[in-house]
Amino acid sequence: MAQRRGAVEDLVVTQPHGIPSCRFCSARLDRVFVDLGVTPLANRNLRPDEVAGETKYPLICRVCPSCLLVQADDSVPPGEIFSDYQYFSSYSDSWVAHARRYCDAMMERFSLGPASLVVEIASNDGYLLQHFVARDVPVLGVEPAANVAAAARAKGIPTENAFFGVGTARRLAASGRKADLMVANNVLAHAPATRDFVGGFAELLAAEGVATFEFPHLLNLIEEVQFDTIYHEHFFYLSFLCVERMMAAAGLRVFDVEELPTHGGSLRLFVCRAAARHRDSGRPEAMRVRERAHGLDSLAGHEGFAAKVAETRRLFLDYLADARRAGRKVAAYGAAAKGNTFLNVCGIAYPQIEAVYDRSTEKQGRLTPGSHIPILAPDRIEELRPDDVVILPWNLADEIVRSLPRVRAWGGRFVVAVPRPRFL
Ligand SMILES: [Zn+2]
Repeated sequence: MAQRRGAVEDLVVTQPHGIPSCRFCSARLDRVFVDLGVTPLANRNLRPDEVAGETKYPLICRVCPSCLLVQADDSVPPGEIFSDYQYFSSYSDSWVAHARRYCDAMMERFSLGPASLVVEIASNDGYLLQHFVARDVPVLGVEPAANVAAAARAKGIPTENAFFGVGTARRLAASGRKADLMVANNVLAHAPATRDFVGGFAELLAAEGVATFEFPHLLNLIEEVQFDTIYHEHFFYLSFLCVERMMAAAGLRVFDVEELPTHGGSLRLFVCRAAARHRDSGRPEAMRVRERAHGLDSLAGHEGFAAKVAETRRLFLDYLADARRAGRKVAAYGAAAKGNTFLNVCGIAYPQIEAVYDRSTEKQGRLTPGSHIPILAPDRIEELRPDDVVILPWNLADEIVRSLPRVRAWGGRFVVAVPRPRFL
């Protein structure tokens, strides 16, 4: 999930007056998309002894006045981000199922077999490539976190421990390996050196190879007020129009696009070399038309988001005040980046929410950043018996509700906060 910091320090030129430059086109980023205040790193759940020294950084997104790329300010010093890596994708059942369906679809559509090579960028612990391995398709993972790459290798997934970009791609290609399928799920937005990152695909793809890129769709972020998907490690908030421009700059062509329900609404782009034979499905043009209809081809179409965020925040704080006045015990589920951004932007702290439950044993026993709410194992929910459980990762709400059948037995409610509070 994480393409870690590569050459970002070289690319983001902070100008003397503090206004950064676009990571894609270098224009001066003088237009703010949304300013979410000063928040701690959303993936950094704390040990109790770390609370006193917690650091916060500005969380500001800008929209490029020239190419319209929405991007977060680079406000965190290098080395701070990702130093304590706690995320393993395999922990979500629905995400593993998503990966299996993807594997089946790609095997069939592109006739992959024992002579093919599938390369996944930011391959994590092999949650996706394992499905290709099981069907005898050779794979290679590229994963920048050493501990995560080691976990993948232990599961029998060949994995290169490296940052991806032109340099890594050339090195792999030089050993005679060209990819028939390259997979980039939720990594494009995390690779700040975007020209170098996308350029790597052009280096490593076989002549008729296909790369797929999945990313949360900016259109849904705006329409559904998904401001909680914004955090420091998430550099880009992407439209089809912007990504197509990034691909074209690297000599790549988008020939198909699908809409997916993951992460509150994602796009999957199918990309090949500009001269490859893959036929355009017609769906790219439909997507261009739709994004233009929503104003994503203009600065004006990116205005007004901050006001929507303020309204979502106000509605949730009203709900929470009412619930507590009525004597209800409120807990939450999911100590991930999304929930932590939400809690911090809303200014909520323990004991307004008394506990956050999470399956990850690495998070249990820690406190959420900024809000300092204890993170507990889900089976401890019986101890508190909360009246309301706020599901912070709203994209996994159904799975989470099913996993906690006892809550309804004692009359508890499930609450989702974005874009406005509602009970499930
Ligand atoms: Zn730009």
